[in-house]
Amino acid sequence: MEATIAQVASEFESLQMPQDPAQKARTKIVATVGPACDEPEQLAHLVRCGANVFRLNMAHGEPEQLQLIVDRIRKLSEEVNEPIAILADLAGPKFRLGDLEGGEVFCARDAEFHFIQGESTSQNELTCSYEPLVDELTVGDHVMLADGTVSMVVEDLLPGRARVRVVQEGVIRNRQGINLPGVQLSAPAISVKDHQHAIWAAKAGVDFVSLSFVRSADEVRTLKDILRSSGSKASVIAKIEKREALHRLDEIVAEADGIMVARGDLGVEIDVAEMPLEQKRVIKKCQDFHKPVIIATQMLDSMHESLRPTRAEVTDVANAILDGADACMLSGETAIGKHPAAAVSMMNRIARATEASILGRPLRAAGAQRADGLHEITSAVVHGAGEMAHALSAKLVVVSSHSGRTALALSQQRSFVPTIGVSAEEKTLRKMCLYWGVMPLRNAPAYNAEELIEHTDAWSCQHGLATRGDRIVIVGGSHLTEATQQKRTSGVHDIVIVHEVQGVGQ
Ligand code: PEP
Repeated sequence: MEATIAQVASEFESLQMPQDPAQKARTKIVATVGPACDEPEQLAHLVRCGANVFRLNMAHGEPEQLQLIVDRIRKLSEEVNEPIAILADLAGPKFRLGDLEGGEVFCARDAEFHFIQGESTSQNELTCSYEPLVDELTVGDHVMLADGTVSMVVEDLLPGRARVRVVQEGVIRNRQGINLPGVQLSAPAISVKDHQHAIWAAKAGVDFVSLSFVRSADEVRTLKDILRSSGSKASVIAKIEKREALHRLDEIVAEADGIMVARGDLGVEIDVAEMPLEQKRVIKKCQDFHKPVIIATQMLDSMHESLRPTRAEVTDVANAILDGADACMLSGETAIGKHPAAAVSMMNRIARATEASILGRPLRAAGAQRADGLHEITSAVVHGAGEMAHALSAKLVVVSSHSGRTALALSQQRSFVPTIGVSAEEKTLRKMCLYWGVMPLRNAPAYNAEELIEHTDAWSCQHGLATRGDRIVIVGGSHLTEATQQKRTSGVHDIVIVHEVQGVGQ
């Protein structure tokens, strides 16, 4: 028998997460901000339920409004004394329908429409936000509308217009996205608007910037150049949602700092039936290159309306985690859904239940590629530290990381031993918000071994993660001890300390 709404609601209330690190999933949760959750108290609630990263969808907002959200998130981070990351998602070359007469049109099978330039004067004339579209289409191209539910094929090209025929019928609405699978368009990867948004994101100090409809590694480089020349060190996330990107996966994953499997558009740009295997392939590639990967879109879609997800959605989230996703993303569920906090809470719950399967598993082998800029000493030390933590049944691994690279390397091992990331750089701590299994900890003495030991000893006992006699493995660089400060090798992690918890004051 189905639970009543009241039962589900009371179950949900009892699931509200305290701000207890032991209750948070190792898999990171990216929550999209929108009208359903953008008030300070709502954002705070999502963090309590397990959100680690907030995504700002630049396709639905202007910098002036989004700056307000950034300010709220930064203030919240101070209040809860927890790093919270922000991802600015650039729209990229997304094309949209213009306005339709009456706001929507039913496209019957075999009906003819015309894509035209300029103003539409009748119901069967369609316009596109990308003016050169009609010049770049070819007979036989497919035009997909309404999230792939309506499909048209180009039958004729006339001056200034393209005649199309409906092959899959359905309703289209004002300003819905248009997908053109396999069509080679000359639209730049980064529009003037994307460029402005990227500069705003750099100035606003966001932590991650994602680019939609990436087709090549050059596009990722271009975005990095824009961000760097505006003084930002934000990580660049390439959204995989075009077949071209799947063809050039190696070069894109190698260049990007992280990947998002953007299944909304990917499931229209390629045959939706191929998507699950492609998702697995992208995850595997990210493991090879030690890059974090986010699985996005429709993960808990039914929670737009319902307090409970479907069995299929729960299984989808669990399978993504089992395959190796670093993060799962909520889009409309948190941005415009009826139950944003319940969706985050549920994602956290599914992740925790699924992660239990990792217990007792051997560490994941190092990827086929050496992680970007990771020194071979660091790589070996990280490997050794992970093995030591397992062999000693350590309760905690602590990594002191300047750039976050070493924390990422530890994350990629998928060890069940909780990992704490410390750094003197708040920006580095925020990057760790996307690293599976790494809990960034503020205000820890990151560069002094004795103080760090004392601090984590007390902190771990206070949060119930360790008690007297438990072991903690600390990974750091020569900067941790005075004796080795002289021989400091820049950026290299060459120290592992095993500490037995004293639990003073326990
Ligand atoms: C997607 O297509 O799945 C996606 C995440 O991108 P957007 O929400 O910008 O369409």
